[in-house]
Amino acid sequence: MLLPFENPPILGSGGRQSLTDEKSMHEGHVRRPNVAILGAGFGGLWAARTLADGPVNVSLIDRHNYHTFFPLLYQIGAAELEPEEISQPLRKIFWKRPNVRFFLGEVQDVDLSAKVVKIPGHEIRYDYLVVALGSKPNFYGVPGLAEYAFTLKSLEQGIALRNQILTSFERAACEVEPERQQAWLTFTIIGGGPTGVEFAGALMELINGALGRDFPHLDLKQVRVVLLEASDHLLVGMPEELSDYAQKRLTKMGIDVHLKSQVVKITPREVLMKDGTRIASRTVIWTAGVQGNISAGQWGLATNRRNQVEVLPTLQLPGHPEVYIVGDLAGIQQDGHPLPMVAQVGIQTGTAAGRNILRQLAGQPPLPFRYHDKGTLDVIGRNAAVAHIWHRAFQGFPAWLIWVWVHIFNLIGYRNRFLVLIDWAWDYLFSEHSVRLIVPTEIHTGRGPAATEIPDKADVPVGIVTPKETAKEMIFLAELDGKV
Ligand SMILES: Cc1cc2nc3c(=O)[nH]c(=O)nc-3n(C[C@H](O)[C@H](O)[C@H](O)COP(=O)(O)OP(=O)(O)OC[C@H]3O[C@@H](n4cnc5c(N)ncnc54)[C@H](O)[C@@H]3O)c2cc1C
Repeated sequence: MLLPFENPPILGSGGRQSLTDEKSMHEGHVRRPNVAILGAGFGGLWAARTLADGPVNVSLIDRHNYHTFFPLLYQIGAAELEPEEISQPLRKIFWKRPNVRFFLGEVQDVDLSAKVVKIPGHEIRYDYLVVALGSKPNFYGVPGLAEYAFTLKSLEQGIALRNQILTSFERAACEVEPERQQAWLTFTIIGGGPTGVEFAGALMELINGALGRDFPHLDLKQVRVVLLEASDHLLVGMPEELSDYAQKRLTKMGIDVHLKSQVVKITPREVLMKDGTRIASRTVIWTAGVQGNISAGQWGLATNRRNQVEVLPTLQLPGHPEVYIVGDLAGIQQDGHPLPMVAQVGIQTGTAAGRNILRQLAGQPPLPFRYHDKGTLDVIGRNAAVAHIWHRAFQGFPAWLIWVWVHIFNLIGYRNRFLVLIDWAWDYLFSEHSVRLIVPTEIHTGRGPAATEIPDKADVPVGIVTPKETAKEMIFLAELDGKV
């Protein structure tokens, strides 16, 4: 008899407790295999969805209780969308899938030989494991980036960036010293890849639209959005005509695009370039590099140059046929090239890992993974995007329409699709971004830390600026200025 998952493991708050359905084993039931999935991003979510109707129990673990649609995260930073419009509670996603259980927690350790995952206070035993912990920023050792740059790798960071941009305008509006005011109004984006290009365009539209009306006494000609790219063209990997189009379009919008520009250091107030140029800028956003979200040698895993875990063509970990690595964390080569760190790779590898586990359970061998490239889309601004799909290049309004349709279609949840459409339509018609609140991100209750606190610096990948730190940074800068 298969044990239904309604016989839940008891969660303990004291010492470590096993969260597997061991009771059933002692009672003589045939135990359903437990698949632990670490991370509920694109890879983990699609693996869980694939396994949801299978003869397994699924333990889905994430440090957040929601899934985030990263392709629209930059719109949180640019105050275009609300956080809840691009995220979905994980428990809701699996309402009708009783064999999927969600556990909120930071994955602390994985013991591959004992087949145990450790989260604070608890242990989860597995028969099969899918590791989908994504990626983290790669600062390539550039001094100051980890401490002072904003990154876009989580919802909290999107909110922190939005707060910073809106606060910078407020500070500039009260500043009497022209140089300081200029520094508050200079926004430097490092990295001319998809996120850098999309964020630069969205930020400029925010400034020229709503912020221009919110701050009538500020001279908008003073505002600088600077986009720095180390190579000689934007959107590396796109056909040249599309890179050129993106550059021309951004320049026309008023963005300072600098190619072949390498950043060597940043401080709280400045960006220093290899050629000696200095840009006085209070807000620096790093979008130029990511790497696998794991430390070298962690859990005994071998990693490559991009800090990804090397896998077999079936996505299995060498020597561990019960362990699969998917998404950004998987170092997969296809036709001699590494696969890009994009959502489609996460979705397709997550699905493939789920299917391979089901095959193993049915006594069949796992199949090698093959990635199907569905194309690339990047939006630049209103009516302007680039698309490389079906081996054809599209630009301008047709590409923008494709971009809108694809993103609405891929958002999770009908409510989110509807809300995003309304916000975009409002923005399109009235040039007004819907959200411009500087929302406090920390509340002191005097009762100690909340049960699910935003991870502290020690818990998050190096370089991530938490909202807490941003607030500290703002106070620090204000003190430097003698303002508080
Ligand atoms: C700003 C931005 C824009 C992007 N735009 C696009 C785009 O337009 N098109 C595209 O195809 N791709 C885009 N990408 C890339 C795409 O989002 C990633 O390739 C994809 O999310 C990878 O999926 P994943 O499952 O490997 O990792 P993720 O989606 O990053 O998921 C990892 C999950 O693991 C959790 N996690 C991490 N560490 C721990 C831990 N220790 N304990 C518990 N939980 C943990 C995280 O909370 C997260 O939910 C973008 C990425 C970003 C950041």
